[in-house]
Amino acid sequence: MSEEFEPVCMICMRPESKAGSLIKLPGNMCVCADCLQKTIDMAESMNLTSNFFNPAGPDSVKKPAEPVQDKEPVHSDNPYAEVNTDTPTEDIPEDEPEEKKTGRPFGGNGFPNISFFNLNDLQNGFPGMSARGPKKKKKPLEPINLKDVLPPHKIKEKLDEYVIGQEQAKKIISVAVYNHYKRVATGTMDEIEIDKSNILMIGPTGCGKTYLVKTLAKLLDVPLAIADATSLTEAGYIGDDIESVVSKLLAAADNDVERAERGIIFIDEIDKIAKKKETTSRDVSGESVQQGMLKLLEGAEVEVPIGANSKNAMVPLATVNTKNILFICGGAFPDLEEIIKQRLNKKTSIGYTAELKDKWDKEKNILSHVKVEDIKKFGMIPEFVGRLPVLCPMEMLDKEMLIDILKEPKNAILKQYQKLLELDEVKLEFSDEALAAIADKAMERDTGARALRAIIEEFMLDIMYEIPKDKNIGKVIITAEYINGTGGPIIEMRTEAVPQISAQA
Ligand code: ADP
Repeated sequence: MSEEFEPVCMICMRPESKAGSLIKLPGNMCVCADCLQKTIDMAESMNLTSNFFNPAGPDSVKKPAEPVQDKEPVHSDNPYAEVNTDTPTEDIPEDEPEEKKTGRPFGGNGFPNISFFNLNDLQNGFPGMSARGPKKKKKPLEPINLKDVLPPHKIKEKLDEYVIGQEQAKKIISVAVYNHYKRVATGTMDEIEIDKSNILMIGPTGCGKTYLVKTLAKLLDVPLAIADATSLTEAGYIGDDIESVVSKLLAAADNDVERAERGIIFIDEIDKIAKKKETTSRDVSGESVQQGMLKLLEGAEVEVPIGANSKNAMVPLATVNTKNILFICGGAFPDLEEIIKQRLNKKTSIGYTAELKDKWDKEKNILSHVKVEDIKKFGMIPEFVGRLPVLCPMEMLDKEMLIDILKEPKNAILKQYQKLLELDEVKLEFSDEALAAIADKAMERDTGARALRAIIEEFMLDIMYEIPKDKNIGKVIITAEYINGTGGPIIEMRTEAVPQISAQA
């Protein structure tokens, strides 16, 4: 018996005579093969496929209908160019049917007059990145070769060129870094997994903690992220998420996940996230941050936003494994010296070995006696300290060290000024007394080596301003009198030396 009405596709409303044989669904509904295919494709592209469409599970879903691709992909300098080659529509003239342009019967969206938000288009806005991680890089990083890892004495030798003093700290760091990269190079060693050698640096402000880490990262040629623990808060509160430190590292590695995974994260002011002693409210920037950092320090896969500090719907994410990232935390830990002294005094005041109660009070470098228990007493939770197994106490800088910092490092401040004046063919010298006077002034400020640059800049301003005025000046000697404001620098002329021209104070 012939049917009175021709069945139509419930989606595109085309009759069977146009759309081809229709698929009958329960409830007397019909759908054409094209529309059914579109539905499946779209569900796939939106990652909604379930076992209904693909019994093998969502992971085995194949790509949406492949477009017509009748020519070689366009090569360009852009390493991410591959991202856009899956829709090579630009060579197809405008008047070609939609199907030819997109490989789909009704254009990109599949249904006539209905537009859908296409997630794939959004991703093209962030070349190289997908919503769940970057696209494969063309050139993967070479695995770290054990032979290429600098041995500790070589690392220290290099650090010596830049960092003055801090002998013990440089030694500790060199060994820790060597072990760390050995661990990265070998993965596991005969089933004996080497623990991470994250480092906790303890030292007063301006003693070179950040500088040491920066120098280290430069000589190892690994990306470095420097973060401040004071800005971190538990996820969901105002402030930076803890995972934002990994995001910073990714940015430092030019969004190259593999490179970032071998980098160093330095978290400064770590003592500021100590447990608050008396608090009735939730400690969102203290103990909770320590808790939140545990998994990062140990090694975890974290999804971090690319190019932003916080996750939101429009920011693409990359998955970074922190297993091989070296974490170095640093802090001044004020009052820690008291805690150490108390412990040492308690120990020495009992038993046969009892010593004078104030024996340790006079000890200059008390921080070098630091133990894990002192850090715990300070307010760091045991799990946190446990994940920073290498304790690296730093020395307070004394006057001699400050003088050396002025002139010895490869990029010492004095060398920098000398180079600047050399370009004007003027020689710059500092008398020993002048250097001592600068160091004295820096000691007064109590901000370690940090004060040196500020002081020098103050004095050098006039010199840098006046010298280029007179082409006859051949040499400037900075004297202690000039630093102390009781005299001027010695200026020598280019022809014959002209002694002591008192400059305007
Ligand atoms: P902090 O310990 O507070 O992190 P920094 O590392 O930022 O101190 O030190 C400030 C500046 O002082 C550095 O940029 C560096 O130029 C100088 N400096 C500090 N300590 C040393 C050192 N031991 N050797 C050479 N320069 C140093």
